Amino acid sequence: MRAHNITANGAIDMSSIIDGKAHAARLRERVGEAAAALAEKHGVTPGLTAVLVGDDPASEVYVRSKGKQTRAAGMASFERRLPAQTGEEDLLKLVGELNNDDAVDGILVQLPLPKQIRAERVINAINPQKDVDGFHIENAGALAVGADALLPCTPFGCILLLKEKIGDMSGMHAVVVGRSNIVGKPVAMLLLREHCTVTIAHSRTRDLPEVCRRADILIAAAGRAEMIKGDWIKPGAVVIDVGINRVGDKKLVGDVEFDAAMKNAAAVTPVPGGVGPMTIACLLRNTLVAACRRRGISVPESLRE
Ligand code: NAD
Repeated sequence: MRAHNITANGAIDMSSIIDGKAHAARLRERVGEAAAALAEKHGVTPGLTAVLVGDDPASEVYVRSKGKQTRAAGMASFERRLPAQTGEEDLLKLVGELNNDDAVDGILVQLPLPKQIRAERVINAINPQKDVDGFHIENAGALAVGADALLPCTPFGCILLLKEKIGDMSGMHAVVVGRSNIVGKPVAMLLLREHCTVTIAHSRTRDLPEVCRRADILIAAAGRAEMIKGDWIKPGAVVIDVGINRVGDKKLVGDVEFDAAMKNAAAVTPVPGGVGPMTIACLLRNTLVAACRRRGISVPESLRE
């Protein structure tokens, strides 16, 4: 923990890149150890089912990667594929089946869904105890009131990276750029839980550069390529870049101008290799936690929040 590196005004005096890949590998290792112990002591192998509707290429890659990492952690990975023209009722029927399938501890419905399906309706049909994405309204509500919840993976990944880098975040000013239900709002809730003073900025925010300059912790989740400039970063701030933006044919960039940000920040997550790998690692962690909770088994210490 780096708490001793925080100066009196809340800044951190060290400069580095936050290696999300390495953090994620360590978390996956802990999940693997916990899965092995669960199998040995309780004869339980947690299972994660990914539901893919249609053939969006990015979703294909993501689902394949999830499957591979789930198996590598010693858990069971299932895939259910439906054609792009699937109707909402058919998808709801599948979700109902998975809710009742005892081999399935986690259900992940890959977004985006085709236009004819209301994602909200499908997500809220998932048994909240199996909602490993943490998007169900019951889990979102539990997070908002500080009750036990399955936490959404990307926001949870951001907080784990911050905890490792900073330690105690109490009293720090965190600015979140973006207010979506899957990233901006839940990450803001989690930062509040860490006792930060939280500002949520969005597309209607006035003078965004000035708001960002006040951040000890800056979370960029707007989905706008390199929108956040180096001189928007307070010297010594820790910057978590959630954005994934494709520029040109192949290149991926975040929401933050990385090189310029590094000149001011104490630490920045790169894109790729920052928050992205943490998202899948947190999904595996949630699946293991869901498997334990559903059976009344206590969650291993190494995977508690
Ligand atoms: P979204 O489009 O649902 O929300 C974007 C938010 O940013 C909105 O609340 C909007 O008000 C705000 N915004 C947009 N333009 C802005 C501007 N010019 N100034 C200030 N605010 C602005 O997106 P999302 O689903 O929350 O995702 C955000 C980004 O994070 C995307 O690039 C997405 O690809 C990425 N993402 C990454 C991961 C991961 O695993 N690393 C997971 C989820 C999302």
